[in-house]
Formats: sequence, C-alpha cells, structure tokens
Amino acid sequence: MYWEPAVELAEADTLRALQTERLNTTLAAARRAPHYAQALRNAAPARLERPEDLGSIPFTTKDDLRSSFPYGFLAVDRRDTVRLHSSSGTTGNPTVVFHTAADLDRWTDLLARCMYMTGVRREDVFQNLMSYGLFTGGLGFHYGAERIGALTIPIGPGNSQRQLWFMRQFETSVLHILPNYALRLAGLIAESGIDCRRELRLRIAFLGAEPHTEQMRRLVEETLGLRAYNSYGLSEMCGPGVAFECTEQRGMHVWEDAFYPEIIDPETLEPAAEGEVGELVLTTLSREAMPLLRYRTRDLTRFLPGPCPCGRTHRRIDRITGRSDDMLIINGVNIFPMQIEQVLLRIPGLGANYLVVVRTEGHMDRLDISVEVAPSAFGGTLEELEALQRRVAEALRSEIVVTPTVHLVEAGSLPTTEGKAQRVRDERPRQGG
Ligand code: ADP
Ligand code: ZN
Repeated sequence: MYWEPAVELAEADTLRALQTERLNTTLAAARRAPHYAQALRNAAPARLERPEDLGSIPFTTKDDLRSSFPYGFLAVDRRDTVRLHSSSGTTGNPTVVFHTAADLDRWTDLLARCMYMTGVRREDVFQNLMSYGLFTGGLGFHYGAERIGALTIPIGPGNSQRQLWFMRQFETSVLHILPNYALRLAGLIAESGIDCRRELRLRIAFLGAEPHTEQMRRLVEETLGLRAYNSYGLSEMCGPGVAFECTEQRGMHVWEDAFYPEIIDPETLEPAAEGEVGELVLTTLSREAMPLLRYRTRDLTRFLPGPCPCGRTHRRIDRITGRSDDMLIINGVNIFPMQIEQVLLRIPGLGANYLVVVRTEGHMDRLDISVEVAPSAFGGTLEELEALQRRVAEALRSEIVVTPTVHLVEAGSLPTTEGKAQRVRDERPRQGG
C-alpha cells in the first residue's frame, strides 16, 4: 500500500524533526542564490529551532521569480543543472525552474509514491494524456510511472480517436488527463456507443493541473467507469507530486518531507485560522538547484482536520477552490469561477463546458455565462429551453448574488483547448492601463 512506508507513516514528531533539519539545509542552500543572498541579509535567524520559526523569513512571490529571471534563484553552478521547466504561463510571463539530477530523482520518487498510493502497479498500463515538454504534467508523471514499472504510453493530449485506439489495443488501465479533456473524451466515448465498463479496462484517472469541482470528478468517474484522484502541483515546486489524494478521496496529502506547507490570510499575510481557507505557501525541503522559501502559490485551500484513515501522517489540504488572483469582482461582489461551475454541474440538462465573460456597460459590470446544453435537452421545445435558462440564471443568482445573462448553446460550440481550460474572459478595461 505504501511506496515509502517509513516516510509516509512517520510519527508527527519524527516528521517535524526531519522538517527542521531540512529547513536549515534549505536555508543554507538558498543563501547561495543571488536573490536570497540579498533578501536574507538582515532577515533570517542563523538557525531555525522548529518549523514555525520560518515565519520570520520573507515570502517569495511569482514577481520575485520574474524579476530575477533567469538565474537569480539558482543556488548551484549552472553546470550542475540538467533540466529546466517552465510554467504554462496561465497568468503573465512564464517562470523558469532548474533541476539537478538529484532533484529530478526525488521528483520521480514523489510521483511514484502518489501513483502507488492509489493502486498503480507494474501490471498497469499508463496512458499519459498531458502535454509533454516544458509543462511539468507530462514528464513528471511519465518518470513516476516508469519507476513503478508500469507500461507507459507517452501519447500526450488530443486526437481522441487515437487515444481510444490505444486504450483498447493495449488495455490501458490508468490515465492522467486534464479534467476538461476527461469530460470531452467521456462525451465522445458515450457518443460512439462504447460501453466503458465492458469494452475498456480503465481503473484509475489522475485529474489535475486545473481547478475542478467534486461534481466534475464524480461525472468523470461515472462516465468513464473508474476512480479519479485529484493531483496538485506547480512547476515552481517541481510540478505534480506536491499533494495527492489517497484512496479515501478526502483531501490531498501534502508530502511534508519534501515541502513545508503554510496557509495564510492573503490580506494580512498572517497564518489563517485553524481550518480556514487561505493561500497556500510552500517551502521546498530537499531541492538543490532552486530552493524556494515561503513561496506564495496564490492557490486557495485549507488544511483538513484530523488523521486520515489511510494511516499517512502528512497533512491534507482541501480541493483548490481557485487562485487568489482569479477572483472576479463584479459590481463589488467577489466571485470565484469554481462557484459558477458548481452550480452549473448541479443542473440536469447542461453540458460541462462553459464560458464566463465579464464586460463593462455604462458604469456597471455585466456577467454573461454561456453554457453548453446536453444534446438530449437541446432537442426540447422552446418553452423547455427558456425554462432551463431561467432555472440556470436563478440558481446562479442565489449562489453568486450577481444576476448573469445566461446563454444556452449547442454542445460542442464553445471553444476547447488542448491545455488548461480558459473559462473566464474579462473584457473590462484595466485600471491604470
Ligand atoms: P501556470 O501557473 O502557468 O498554470 P503550472 O503549470 O505550474 O503553471 O500550474 C500550476 C497551477 O495549476 C497551480 O498553482 C494551480 O493554480 C493549478 N493547479 C494545479 N493542480 C491543480 C489541482 N489539482 N486543482 C486545482 N488547481 C490546480
Ligand atoms: Zn489518506
């Protein structure tokens, strides 16, 4: 059940001692990078006695990474690095992250730990539908699966017919796929009249790289006939493998031997109250090339209380509800796109693809939400469609307070992407530029 039982089941005290030791090693290593040599000159104590002492050290932000581009965070000789990865640039310019051979080795082990935890074994056939290349989702899982010994198909995204052909031909049992692509693929499989449970051998899917709701997971599980697990990571830390769900499917274990997690109130920058949602802050504990101290991920989540029945002692975080910077403020009301998704997926007759557009009209913000209608519902009468439209608008209004204009559109008519879903288009003129 456990890839590294001694680490995964470590007693809390053991884990804290390990974290303290690794934090001190990390601090020393970080001082060799130009950025931290400067930033830590007056700030850091010589030695941390316990993990919480980290609170005296300044945060690191994405802007710091950008302004020190490209080598300001490098803590080793450039010749000791063997690979670079880059974030997908969902927001702003990309940032670059370097790895030594040892960094890659540890990352691979983390991914093997994650996949093994959900039941992946050497008998499995793993089809990786994430893009390869600079994006970390492809190569990260790839090496993890190979380390377990699973037969790995590095197919990448797109071309659904070909994906299906491979699934059938090689009896694929495990998928790694973007949630929005999983739903499209499920739709296609349903249309082709394929009975997933009888004709395919799928058991497990890893969904990650973009926010998605619990309903979205259940939908993927039901349509593809498998168990889906949430996978969280970011290229600044390594990529996937930072936090991962176990078979309990109740929150993601953050691997605390590799990352020290904090959750802060993004306004006050103080630790969030016990169990409150805040911004996840991560410190690398075993990275050579590019140690990062108190990195503000901008991802919003909370620690889940209590021990996990699986026996692992590493704390769990809740599903990411969004990024602190993708919150929309519409006529003064704060809205997260995930709230909209939650409402839409609850209403029968709607498809899973939607697009949120925010515009300015006069001095007011306007919210337009286009959502695809399931093919069955689109065949209905005009009255039925109008009734559905009113239900959607009403359900949204009661959740997000703002009344949107709802457009029901035909399945397959909204733009899709091979990468992360782009669900929000903010067309308001920017303040100050
Ligand atoms: P970019 O910031 O350009 O998207 P990455 O490819 O490194 O760069 O993506 C990391 C980000 O993707 C995370 O900070 C988070 O916002 C999002 N993300 C990754 N995994 C998940 C997940 N399981 N749930 C929600 N969001 C996720
Ligand atoms: Zn668990």
